[in-house]
Amino acid sequence: MSDHTGLDGLHPDTLLVHSGTLRSPHGETSEALYLNSGFTYESAAEAEARFKGEAEGYVYSRYGNPTVTMFETRIAALEGAEAARGTASGMAAVFASLASYLRAGDHVIGAKAVFGASRAIIEEILPRFGIESTVVDGRDLDAWRAAIRPNTRVLFCESPANPTLDIVDIEGVAGIAHDAGAILMVDNVFATPLLQRPLKFGADVVIYSATKHIDGQGRCLGGVILSTTKFIEEHVQGFLRQTGPTLSAFNAWVMLKGLETLTVRVERESASAAKIADFLSEQRGIARVMYPGRADHPQAALAKRQMASGGPLVAFSLDGDKDATFRFLDALRVIKISNNLGDAKSLIAHPATTTHQKLSDEAKAELGITAGTLRLSVGLEHADDLITDIAQALTKV
Ligand SMILES: *Cc1c(COP(=O)(O)O)cnc(C)c1O
Repeated sequence: MSDHTGLDGLHPDTLLVHSGTLRSPHGETSEALYLNSGFTYESAAEAEARFKGEAEGYVYSRYGNPTVTMFETRIAALEGAEAARGTASGMAAVFASLASYLRAGDHVIGAKAVFGASRAIIEEILPRFGIESTVVDGRDLDAWRAAIRPNTRVLFCESPANPTLDIVDIEGVAGIAHDAGAILMVDNVFATPLLQRPLKFGADVVIYSATKHIDGQGRCLGGVILSTTKFIEEHVQGFLRQTGPTLSAFNAWVMLKGLETLTVRVERESASAAKIADFLSEQRGIARVMYPGRADHPQAALAKRQMASGGPLVAFSLDGDKDATFRFLDALRVIKISNNLGDAKSLIAHPATTTHQKLSDEAKAELGITAGTLRLSVGLEHADDLITDIAQALTKV
């Protein structure tokens, strides 16, 4: 029994609590966790019909599972997408989106400022299968245009981008993709599904690491791909089914419960992030604050057009070398040092020595990553406690 009728036109907060619920005959309030790999059939004929796709119903949890379906339906309702498929991790979602659509001889263009593993897929893994790639400065529409080739089929970006929170003009890049007969895929993790809807700006596929704000409490890995029913059915579904990077029912259940509180968490975290960004901009010893919600962000107007608020991440650069920056990090008491993000706990990363360590000095400079650059993922602690923590650590620099 499905329980998502009558929800059309309601607010995200409401959709995130009720959409997609498949209530069993027991009438449970919280969604059931279907922790089973297989399904049984009333008859051999029924098994045959389900395998042929002529009868409704589940076949095997690698293909689909009721708890996973609830998660997929709920996030699709929030995003305004026709269809969604869960994956085992965010990287499985990135790889499946690209690998299910591209084939040998195709060309993909990626923004330089994306999650490190996504860049490795575009620049190292896909070329091994005969898929050519080019990376460009995602902020520069002319660079996207200049990189287009007759065989370009996908443009891929992130906005805000990791780690310096540069903004990509999604509508602009989508237009360039469509003029060339290509599609645009957007990794929307940093904006969260609440604050930015890439589909509205012309993106064709939206990807999340659900590990981040969707779970939001640092527990499980997961990912999701959202698009049209046509794209999901023609490309993604078969690829996932045959290659197996399936979202586990348990992780889907955790994510489903995470969605219920997404609005409350992301609003609170974003409000704290805005306060922290303002505080940082007034401190001596800070060379640069990058926050999409501040008027001094180099692309503030674009950020305002695309995003409902500045979001839960802040990037800033200390006016110091690596040693000074490490002294700051080691002095923090409440904020934890971690490369993860989107947790209830505030987490801070030093991209130059962790997430972006592998890049050459030149590539780091190109992305604006210095020895003093830090990326802060703001959690659910009281904003004043986080500011006090940062202030005392700044005195150690
Ligand atoms: C974390 C992250 C990923 C990868 O997600 P996993 O769940 O760790 O596989 C991809 N893109 C962005 C922007 C991320 O932050």
